Amino acid sequence: MNTSDTRRLAIHLPITALAGVGDALAQKLHELGIYRIFDLLMHLPRDYEDRSRRVNIKDVQHGMSAMVAGVITKITPSRTGLSVILEDESGVIELRFFRVYASLKNTMQIGEKITAFGEVKISRFGVQMAHPEYYITGKKQFDDGLVPIYPAVKGLHQNKIRQLIRLAMQAVSSEGVYCLSTKELRLAGFGDMTEDVFCALKQIHLPDERADIFAQTLLLQGLKNRTHPACRRLIIEELTAHQLSFLYRRKNLYQHKAPRCVLKSPLADQLVQSLPFGLTNAQARVISESVRDMITSRPMLRLIQGDVGAGKTLVAALTACHALDAGWQVALMAPTEILAEQHFINFQKWFTALGIQVGFLAGKQSAKERTAMTTAIANNDVQVVVGTHALFQDGVVFAKLGLVIIDEQHRFGVEQRLRLTDKGATNSTPHQLAMTATPIPRTLAMSMYGDMDVSVIDELPPNRTPVTTITINRDRRDEVIERIFVNCKEGKQAYWVCPLVEESSTLDAQSAELLYEDLCDRLDIRIGLVHGKMKPADKQGIMAEFKAGNIDLLVATTVIEVGVDVPNASLMVIENAERLGLSQLHQLRGRVGRGSAKSFCVLLYQMPLSPTGIERLNVLKDSTDGFVIAQKDLQIRGAGELLGKRQTGDMGYYLADIIRDEQLLAAAQTIAHHLLETPDKQGLAQQIVDTWLPTAKAYVNA
Ligand code: ADP
Ligand code: MG
Repeated sequence: MNTSDTRRLAIHLPITALAGVGDALAQKLHELGIYRIFDLLMHLPRDYEDRSRRVNIKDVQHGMSAMVAGVITKITPSRTGLSVILEDESGVIELRFFRVYASLKNTMQIGEKITAFGEVKISRFGVQMAHPEYYITGKKQFDDGLVPIYPAVKGLHQNKIRQLIRLAMQAVSSEGVYCLSTKELRLAGFGDMTEDVFCALKQIHLPDERADIFAQTLLLQGLKNRTHPACRRLIIEELTAHQLSFLYRRKNLYQHKAPRCVLKSPLADQLVQSLPFGLTNAQARVISESVRDMITSRPMLRLIQGDVGAGKTLVAALTACHALDAGWQVALMAPTEILAEQHFINFQKWFTALGIQVGFLAGKQSAKERTAMTTAIANNDVQVVVGTHALFQDGVVFAKLGLVIIDEQHRFGVEQRLRLTDKGATNSTPHQLAMTATPIPRTLAMSMYGDMDVSVIDELPPNRTPVTTITINRDRRDEVIERIFVNCKEGKQAYWVCPLVEESSTLDAQSAELLYEDLCDRLDIRIGLVHGKMKPADKQGIMAEFKAGNIDLLVATTVIEVGVDVPNASLMVIENAERLGLSQLHQLRGRVGRGSAKSFCVLLYQMPLSPTGIERLNVLKDSTDGFVIAQKDLQIRGAGELLGKRQTGDMGYYLADIIRDEQLLAAAQTIAHHLLETPDKQGLAQQIVDTWLPTAKAYVNA
């Protein structure tokens, strides 16, 4: 079955295909991310209410959601609504309605038998239930049993969502959902997981009551925390779909031809000879891993992971040589201007002497500079172009782009990454090398960059003395200022980092300016200031002065978080460290400890600090290993925080959680490979991807 056929399946239809779903309701559902009928099926309960048992009124407790039944003995209209007294054999409860409508008036009659469900409130006004759901006993009107509670938005009620999901289940029931069979599941060791996806969905949306209260509690717990077999079944399916889409993306990439680069690069040899140090083994290995890809006509797609200070810039430059020697252009993209500028300076230093022209392109350049640069790029007058995301804007056309290097790639989204590869010559897709210092645990990397090969620089250059990290209460800030002063007078250089959140936010710039003025008043040393709101030329000027040793203390926002490299700087103070993420602090701290001097990082914190706050700062005190820190950060804050919303948002999982479901990932990978390698499974594989990742096509064809 090909794709156009699968589009006709009910799960792919827009929600407006359901009876009673008009534009207004569709709009509400879109707010919940629901567009297709399948999205509705995958709108899973966040909780359940147990309405399977009637509770004696005398047994209800404050705060509990309970179902009670009895006879109406008294009705009192009030200014604001209606008060109804309900009695059973055991006790009395007051049902309060704040609005009186016709059907309420009709039902609420003295002597009528009513079943009601709602949250119990016990106060000095007695035992009450505010605006409960109710029906005349025996004429069931609301859902009972185990009732799912869904994520909702204003103006869309639980009852309506439940009804829509039942409609969606009906619409899909005759076709079901194409999914993995026991045979594939068995491959990955899940042979006992027989339920197909549709059955699993039924169990989650409409769970069966258990006679035994204990069994029922367990059931609900499992459904809620997604450890129930039905949930795990869906998770495997979803992870498999994502792994498949990675494999497709790669397969698609391999249909394009890439520029062949050279195995032996005289330029690289010259560059290595010009260095005052030799490569680490890890650097040499990672370069050769990349070069092995680049000498083939298959586009490389490789991620280099290496802790802060591992020497990734040099790896990028040397890898570039193998493209340059074959006559191709190289683009290096960095997430911030400061970093781009710094790479530009380094690359110029390394390459200009070797006869290679290096260009620079960033957003804030003047129109004239820009035009000159884009012309040079188009004419192959510059062979290496360093820049920010300005590199992949429309006006930029490369003469012969052979290799794209993306530094700190976790700062970019998948789309941005793909746009730069479009810059290759016709019929040619450039090789891609992404670099990151966010040491993503392996499984996480698999679920985010499953389509990339990964190389790890697992060794730091020799003679680095680990940075000593100290945590100090902000009360003692004056002492810290004194210490900085003494050290700077001795010829050391220092950073003072302001507490910020976002590069180039105005507030951040202001707080940095205040701090700068304060320190200037108090200290007789040379102080500089950089923040994201400054003109690029000014930033560059200050950074150059700092690097040249003409500034002792650099006050900065987190713009210096990535990449900045001034080996003589051996002290860093970070204000309000408790506000920053662990990996971010680790990155910042990586700015010191780059030279031979013993380096210190002072984390200033503000009380009160929560126990996790203390635990977090201690992680940094105890470890300088980026992987250990990332793992902790992951545990404490979750993937979204570690990697940035944009990255995790890109992944677009309905229910899989890459941390919680780590152990299912390998299984999904096995299954995905198997499907793709089995000729008669192609249709199924395609359907699984279409079902779970309806937008995957956009990426595959990008
Ligand atoms: P990162 O991996 O964090 O991007 P950099 O590329 O900024 O690290 O390198 C950090 C510092 O280490 C730089 O000053 C660089 O010149 C230096 N460096 C890189 N490789 C080596 C090496 N093999 N031996 C010694 N120093 C090195
Ligand atoms: Mg770097």
